[in-house]
Amino acid sequence: ILILGIESSCDDTSAAVIKNDKILANITAGQDVHKLYGGVVPELASRAHQKHIVPVVSQALAQANISAGDLDAIAYTRGPGLLGSLLVGSSFAKSMAQALGIPAIPVHHMKAHVLAHFIDSHLPVPPFPFLNLTVSGGHTQIIKVSDPFTFDVIGQTLDDAAGEAFDKSAKLLGLPYPGGPEIDRQAKSGDKNRFTFTKPKVEGLSFSFSGLKTNFRNFVEKETRRNADFKRDNMADLCASIQHTIVEMLMERLVEAAALTGIKHVAIAGGVSANSYLRTQLVAVADKYGWQTYIPPFEYCTDNGAMIAIAGYFEFQNKERDTSLSTSATARWEM
Ligand code: ATP
Ligand code: FE
Repeated sequence: ILILGIESSCDDTSAAVIKNDKILANITAGQDVHKLYGGVVPELASRAHQKHIVPVVSQALAQANISAGDLDAIAYTRGPGLLGSLLVGSSFAKSMAQALGIPAIPVHHMKAHVLAHFIDSHLPVPPFPFLNLTVSGGHTQIIKVSDPFTFDVIGQTLDDAAGEAFDKSAKLLGLPYPGGPEIDRQAKSGDKNRFTFTKPKVEGLSFSFSGLKTNFRNFVEKETRRNADFKRDNMADLCASIQHTIVEMLMERLVEAAALTGIKHVAIAGGVSANSYLRTQLVAVADKYGWQTYIPPFEYCTDNGAMIAIAGYFEFQNKERDTSLSTSATARWEM
């Protein structure tokens, strides 16, 4: 089975070709235009998708060494995400599928982030049921995954996502967008115990990052009034300390979720799962509690066509799959 996967939910245009679960090509065009604004500008994102979609898909087919006529199906991100961005990828995918006379398969972006674990990458795949901490630019979720189609959100954020906590802290420190990778890089030479920030108390398995953001901003602004060069002088320690706090908040909840469900197969996914400190902390905590862990390769953490293609591959084998061309993109879509 050959499947083309198309991702366009935010600011990356990506297309991948898989043969069953084996990856043949995964091509992504990023959008530097947003750097000027310190965040994604939706109108500019959809225009850039329009510019990138044809070359990205052509390049994916060329690298996979197949022609469009060889494809069995086209999977596309239906949502959630920016509507204007989703419309570009979904319209393209549905038109191309109709022209080829093959099914167009709508994929849920957050399920796809989790299913990235099943892209053949020489790494062990998690057995069902497993727990997945999905941490991305727009979501923070602990999910019990019972099979490739059954995702129960057992904990999620009440306000900001973990990725936003990284990006907003970075912006406050004057680091370029997206700030997550910048904080990760700077933190490597910093002392994570130098500064402490208050972790909010929230019920159950929920997360909250907006209080931390305010706490961090107030602290940095206060110190900057005393020493105008405070940020510059303490950049690495500030990055290491805020990163440590965010990761600790994530790990505390994950430990509770594992205890509550009794599940010892624990995975991470989404853009923030590329964070090197989160990756090492997960392994350390897993050691302590006897978990097996599953961490995607870097290229399948942030948005990519391969995760859409693998989700489409599972859906292709689902008898109840939806391949209607009238299924339209949607900015919001429940798990
Ligand atoms: P969603 O998947 O919720 O719709 P999205 O698709 O925009 O959101 P992803 O592409 O999955 O998000 O992830 C992007 C986020 O990951 C950004 O917030 C970015 O800062 C963060 N990120 C990427 N790499 C790292 C890293 N090394 N450390 C911390 N954060 C990172
Ligand atoms: Fe994403």
